[in-house]
Amino acid sequence: MATTENQRYRLFIDGETVDASSADRLTTTDPATEEPIARFAAATADDVDRAVGAARGALSDWRSETPVERGRIVHRVADEIRDRAEELARIESRDQGKPLSQARSDVDDAIRYFEYYAGAADKLEGKSVPRGRANLDLTVRKPYGVSGQIIPWNFPLSITARGVAPALVAGNTAVVKPAPTTPLSALHFAEICRDAGVPDGVVNVVTGGVEPGAALSSHEDVDQLTFTGSVSTGEAVMKSAAETITDVTLELGGKNPAVVLPDANLDEAVSEIGTGIFTNGGQICSAADRALVHESIYDEFVDRIVDEAKSYALGPGTADPDMGPLNHAEHFETVMEYIELGVEEGATLETGGKAPDRDGHFVSPTVFSEVENAMRIAQEEIFGPVLAVIPFEDREEATTLANDVDFGLTGGVFSRDVAQALSVAREIDAGSVYVNEWFGGSIETPFGGTKRSGIGREKGLEALDSYLQTQNISVSLDEDRP
Ligand code: NAD
Repeated sequence: MATTENQRYRLFIDGETVDASSADRLTTTDPATEEPIARFAAATADDVDRAVGAARGALSDWRSETPVERGRIVHRVADEIRDRAEELARIESRDQGKPLSQARSDVDDAIRYFEYYAGAADKLEGKSVPRGRANLDLTVRKPYGVSGQIIPWNFPLSITARGVAPALVAGNTAVVKPAPTTPLSALHFAEICRDAGVPDGVVNVVTGGVEPGAALSSHEDVDQLTFTGSVSTGEAVMKSAAETITDVTLELGGKNPAVVLPDANLDEAVSEIGTGIFTNGGQICSAADRALVHESIYDEFVDRIVDEAKSYALGPGTADPDMGPLNHAEHFETVMEYIELGVEEGATLETGGKAPDRDGHFVSPTVFSEVENAMRIAQEEIFGPVLAVIPFEDREEATTLANDVDFGLTGGVFSRDVAQALSVAREIDAGSVYVNEWFGGSIETPFGGTKRSGIGREKGLEALDSYLQTQNISVSLDEDRP
C-alpha cells in the first residue's frame, strides 16, 4: 500500500485508479497540524456517471455468483484489511485526527463487518406462503442493484465497511462517495477489495464534495442509497431520491440523553458519559450529548465530570492521546460558536470551551452546567466535545426532557436498579438505549434513528433488509385448469 505523504490520489472505477474528467484537485490536511497530506481528484457528475455505469455493468455477474462464493470473496476483504490494518489505522488517524488506538478499533470494526456479513451470504432465505392446494407461493430475496453510499468524515473507513459489506453479500454493487476531508481510507479500501478478488466494477470510489454526492443521490441508475451525515444533507438526499423513487437509508444526527438516576454508580456514570462525549472529540452521532442528572446528585456529578474532562490529554491522533483535534477548520469554528452561544444563553461554563494555543483544530473537553433543555446547546447537535448537564426532579421529568428534542438516535440510563433502568430505557424514544454503559451494541446489533435521526437500520442482520427486495412468485398447481 502506498504511503499518503504528498501523494496524488485518483478515482477508483471499474477495478482501476483513473483520472477524473476535470483536472481539479482537492487537498486533505492533517487536522493536528493543518499541513497538507495528499491531493485527490474532485469527481464531477460525469465521473459519477462512469462509476455508476461500471457498477451497473458488474451487477449481472455479481448477483448471479453463488452465495457461497460471494461470501468467500467478502471474507477475503476482511482478511486483506487485517493484513494492512496498522497502515490503514495510521492513514485514518492522520486524515481524520482521531487517536491511533481509536483508528485501530475502527479498522477492527471494518474487519468485523466483512466477516460478519460474509457468513450471512448463503443464509438470505425466502419463505413459502401457505395458500392452499391450488398454489405454491414463494418469496425470493433479491438485491436492489446499484447501491450509492455517501459517507461522513467522523468514521470514514468503518462507515464505508458498514454499508458496503451487507450491500455486497446481498448481491448489489456499490459506488462509494467519501467526505472531502477524509477521502484516503476509502481509496485504499477500494484497492483492498480488488486485491481480495472483488470483481472489477463491484466496488467503485468517487472522491469530492457536494457535486459527486448530489450526482450520486440523483442518479437515475442508482437503485438504493445509504446516506450517513447531517440532517440537512439527508433531507437533500431524500428529496432527490424522491425524484427517482429510490429507496434510502438515512443515518443522521443525534442529541442523545444520558439519564443518571439517584441510585446510579456515579463512578461508572461519570466514566461512561465522559467516554460517551469526549471520544473522537465528540464527533459521534451517538455521543452522550446531554447528561440529565437527578438533583440530589447533580452537584457531585458536575464536580466529577469536570475532573474527568480535565484529565483528557490532547494531541495529534498519531501520537495516540486521549483526544485528537476536530476534523477541519469550518467544523472547529462551528463548535466554538456553540460554546459562545452556551455562555450567551446563560449556561455555566464549568471547564474547557477554549482552543489550546497550538496548531490544529483542538478544542478542550467542555462541560456546561445549569443547562435548560430549551437552550439551543441542548437542542442542536454540536458534534464536538461539549457536554450539557441538566438537572431533573423525578423520573417523569427525566424522560420528558430526554425525549424533548427532534432527534432519537441513542440514549442511556444509569441506575443500580435494573428494573427501573429498563422501564426508563423503554420510555426513551431512540433507536438504541444503553444501560449502565455508553456505546453499547456491536457489529451484530441493529443501529439507527427515530424522528429526525434517520430512517432504516444499519448493522446486525436487520441491515440486510436495506439491501434486499422481496419478490413474490405464485405458481398455479390447479390441475383442473384448462
Ligand atoms: P454532511 O451531511 O455534511 O456530509 C455527509 C456526506 O454527504 C459527505 O460525503 C458530503 O460530501 C456529502 N454531501 C454533501 N452535500 C451533499 C448533497 N447535496 N448531496 C449528497 N451528498 C452530499 O455530514 P458530515 O458533516 O460529513 O457528518 C456529520 C454528520 O453526520 C453529523 O450530523 C452526524 O451526526 C452524522 N452522522 C451520523 C451517523 C449515524 O450513523 N447516524 C454516523 C456518523 C455521522
